[in-house]
This record gives sequence, C-alpha cells and structure tokens, in this order.
Amino acid sequence: MPRTFRGGVHPLHSSHEGKPLSSGSAIRELIPSSVVIPVGMHLGAPSTPCVQKGDRVLLGQTIATPNGFLGVPVHASVSGTVIAVEPRQQLKGHPEDCIVIENDGLDEAVPFTPAGTVESVSPADIINAVRQAGICGMGGAAFPSAVKLAVPEGKKAEIVIINGAECEPYLTCDHRVMLEQPLRIVSGLRLLLKAANVQKGVIAIESNKPDCVVSIKAASMNYPEITVLTLPTKYPQGGEKQLIEVVTGKQVPQKKLPIDVGALVFNVQTAAAVSDAVLLGKPLYSRITTVTGAVAQPSNFLVRVGTQFGDAIEAAGGYKGEPKKIISGGPMTGFACPSDEVSITKAGGGILVYDEAMSREDVELACIRCGKCVNACPIGLMPYQIKFDAEKELWDAAQKHNAMDCIACGICSYSCPAKRHLTQAIKLAKDQIAAKQKR
Ligand code: SF4
Ligand code: SF4
Repeated sequence: MPRTFRGGVHPLHSSHEGKPLSSGSAIRELIPSSVVIPVGMHLGAPSTPCVQKGDRVLLGQTIATPNGFLGVPVHASVSGTVIAVEPRQQLKGHPEDCIVIENDGLDEAVPFTPAGTVESVSPADIINAVRQAGICGMGGAAFPSAVKLAVPEGKKAEIVIINGAECEPYLTCDHRVMLEQPLRIVSGLRLLLKAANVQKGVIAIESNKPDCVVSIKAASMNYPEITVLTLPTKYPQGGEKQLIEVVTGKQVPQKKLPIDVGALVFNVQTAAAVSDAVLLGKPLYSRITTVTGAVAQPSNFLVRVGTQFGDAIEAAGGYKGEPKKIISGGPMTGFACPSDEVSITKAGGGILVYDEAMSREDVELACIRCGKCVNACPIGLMPYQIKFDAEKELWDAAQKHNAMDCIACGICSYSCPAKRHLTQAIKLAKDQIAAKQKR
C-alpha cells in the first residue's frame, strides 16, 4: 500500500468534487479566430517578442525569445498575421506584454524536425529539444522543464514521478489525456528517464480514475522501468512534496527541492509535451484544458495557447445563467479572473465558471480554536495564527510562523467551521513578506 501524507482532505465527495460534470467529455479541438499570447507564461523573466505588428507568422514559429536562466521561448499557436504586440490585461488582473495573432485558418507550420526515437536520441538532445520547444510545467507551476532536467552537480536523480493525481476538484483534463493519449505520456516518461539518467519511473494516479489506471498500465506494460501506482483519493495529493512523500516515503525538507531527495516530478501533460517535442519536433503551442461549472456543456478541449477564456466558454455552449465569477484553475488553488478576455496559458488546466449559488461567500465567524485547520494543513502550519498575524499586519510574525511554506492548497479554509478566509489571509502575508524581501 502506498503511504500517505500529513493532513489533507480524504476524500472530497463527488458533490463537492465536480469532476463528473466533465470527466465523460472526450477531448475536442478548439481553434479560435485569434489568439492573445502572453510572453510571460512561465516562471522566470518574460520572453522578448521577436515579431512585430503586420508580420505573417507560421504555426510553431518562435515569436518571443527567452531571457535568463529560467527563460523559455514562445511560439505562434496559429498561422496568420500579428495584429498587435502590446500589454493586455491578463489572469492576475494587470497588463502583460502579449502578441496578438489573427488566425488565417491555414495552420501553415514551420518544419518540425524530430530529435530522434526514444532509443536513438541522446540525453543532451532530449534536454535541448525540451528547451527549444518552450516546455514548462503544465500542472500549474510553469517551471521550465529543461532547467528541471539539468540536475545540478553533486545531486543525483533516482526517480522520475509523473503526476497523474489531478486532485483539484472539477478539473478533468489530465484524466482525459491519460485515458485517450496514454502512449504520449509513457513515451514522455521514457524520454525523461533517459534525459535524467534514471532507471525508475512511476506514474501516480488517484483511485478515483480507475479507467486511467487501466489505460496507462496497458500502454506501459512493455517497460519494466515504469510502475503505475494507484493512490487513495486525497487532496492535495498532486502537490509536488506530498506526491514525493507518498511515492517514495521521503519528505522534502523545508526550503529544499525535490532533487534534494532524488526526485523529479512532471505533470502528465508535461510528459506528453516532451514526447511531442522530441519525437515530432513539435513546440508547445497547445494543451488540453477543462471548461466547466456553470456552462451549458462542460468540456475538455485541445486548445491553442492564447485562446481567450470567452472563446473557450462559448465553445462549451456558453454561460449557463448569469456568471458571477470566472476562476482560472480549480476551486481550491485557482483564482478569480478580471474578465473572460484573458488567455489560456501553457499552465492553464481549467476554466471554472461560478453562478450565483456557487459563488456565495460564507460569512466569516470568530475562530473557535478547534484546531481543524492545523490538523488539515499538509505542511503542518498554523493557519489560524498566520491569519491573526495578517489581520494585525504583523508580517515578521507571519514569516516566523512559516507563511512562506504555504502551498495555497486551500484546505484550511475548506476545513474551518467558522468559514474563516484563512488561505486569502496567508496569501496576503506571503505577498507582503515577498515584497519586503525584494526591498
Ligand atoms: S493553504 Fe497553506 S496554510 Fe492552508 S492548509 Fe494549505 S498549505 Fe496549509
Ligand atoms: S479551523 Fe477555523 S475555527 Fe478552527 S482553529 Fe482554525 S481558524 Fe479557528
């Protein structure tokens, strides 16, 4: 039996989980009439546009070049004409540099050059193909994958874990990829193992997706280096540190990275993108995204990067009733968007529309010191205490209470019988501490 991790919620019942809304929806392709591609979709400095208004671009063409150690290139997700290179309001509510392309509908692509086969390609060529393809973590973190694969001197990777937990309620895009495209994931893992010189790969899937376990097991049956692990359904199992603990039994110490315990973790869609980059020479310009909640037809789409939320919602049959809130991601870790005129990014796994009933804010009551938030926190923090610090603007105290270790999983708020807005308060504390450190 796999181990478990401290805290968490077990399980989120399907009425809260929301996954049945879209889990049966097979992947459909959505090609928009235009795309708005932010040049800062990854962790690290935004890329620099290398096209200008009026240029004709081809599908897969580099349109922004990387900057710095954590830089990744950005590619055109349609063929057509660049109609603007300008700041546009994006997910976090402030303007970001974007490249706007009007789609000519031809999908005329640059030549894609495969790096080789799984057997023939060298580790260096795999890392190079991943870098050139602009791949960053597609589970939400958007960390550049080529940087993750370049294991620092003095460290050794012993296991590559493919994260198929998809523990976030409502989201089912990873579920559909595992079910419909298991070979892309398995090929991607084989390439990741080769790139990192690791002999052991694990694809970890929660028990609420038994169909994915069957499909991934069938696709990986000829590769003894790959194990498919079924994990009990528990949120936030897909958190990097939680998953490593469950799979390996090792805890990643505070302020340390997974590689410090010999682990590399990649999302299922990241692994699939690695396969496309190496075996097909295809840059990362599309992904599978769930559009769900108060929409007429909750769906999973193969979308082009830069597709506007509004276009994706329309493709899902449009709003069901009056929309009250549009969430980028799921209800636990996602955040409310300023409008539906924002872009789906490389890391954008979902769009969740809330109607009036779903968006009702509970009235916050006084803390009754029940300790439920402490017991539920997977990191072992004291959420009630950090909220108290934040309310008093005691940012040094919040730091002392390890606010920066919070992974924003939202469980403390979910567990609190007094409906206290703990996660928001801790996020505010983190922002204040980060701003102070920057100064
Ligand atoms: S949001 Fe942060 S403090 Fe709250 S349970 Fe998750 S990790 Fe702990
Ligand atoms: S769960 Fe809520 S009421 Fe209980 S200690 Fe935490 S903040 Fe207070």
